Amino acid sequence: MRKTIVAGNWKLNGDPSLCAAFAVAARAFESGDAEVLICPPAIWLATLADQLASTSFHVGGQNLASEKAGAYTGEISAAMLSAAGAKYCILGHSERRTIFAENSALVAQKALVAIEENLIPIICVGEALDCREAGKAKAFVEQQLLESLDGLDRESLSKVVIAYEPIWAIGTGVTASTDQAQEMHAHIRSVLAQRVDSQAISLLYGGSVKPSNAKELIAQKDIDGALVGGASLNVDDFLAIVEAAG
Ligand code: PEP
Repeated sequence: MRKTIVAGNWKLNGDPSLCAAFAVAARAFESGDAEVLICPPAIWLATLADQLASTSFHVGGQNLASEKAGAYTGEISAAMLSAAGAKYCILGHSERRTIFAENSALVAQKALVAIEENLIPIICVGEALDCREAGKAKAFVEQQLLESLDGLDRESLSKVVIAYEPIWAIGTGVTASTDQAQEMHAHIRSVLAQRVDSQAISLLYGGSVKPSNAKELIAQKDIDGALVGGASLNVDDFLAIVEAAG
């Protein structure tokens, strides 16, 4: 059964007072069917996990090391995230791919490490604007998806969450239309169906999701939730998106 998921990605934002504000709100929040998680900067993850422990909200990492341990200055392992209270980890976000030059082979390696540590990987895929304008978005996303899942067996594949985030919609205020988003999610599901029961995999849309567009997007047949950047930094906006998800 596909789970509805709303994930907040704070990126390089947030501080202890934002953690505290979310903890207060989460304690008072009547949770619906959606699984809710917040991915703060790693330094706040353990704090936020503790603060949310008595609520229905979860926490996740924004990235993890492809190696398990060793001389990798500045890295954080899957086991460390898990020990700090993470349930999920975002992998292959377009900012990691473009700014930090992460390729899909590395994302696949990280996904395997995450699954070994019982973290649920949220694997991001999405095309740039020129790719969409050239009519190549579906082919690009399909290849990126398959390469980002390379080496995962059927059982591991059944544990992943996929987030479709068109790069041109991230942080731009431009949202994919519901038709564009649904079409790509259906394509992703059909690609996954070649290797796994794709009806069991949650597919999230990300890219300028806000309270005003969340309901319509998440109501699409193949969209099972949202990965939210900017709007996850505002408690009221984020909770309104969670409510829109049902
Ligand atoms: C994101 O960073 O994953 C994202 C979707 O950002 P925004 O919601 O701000 O577009």
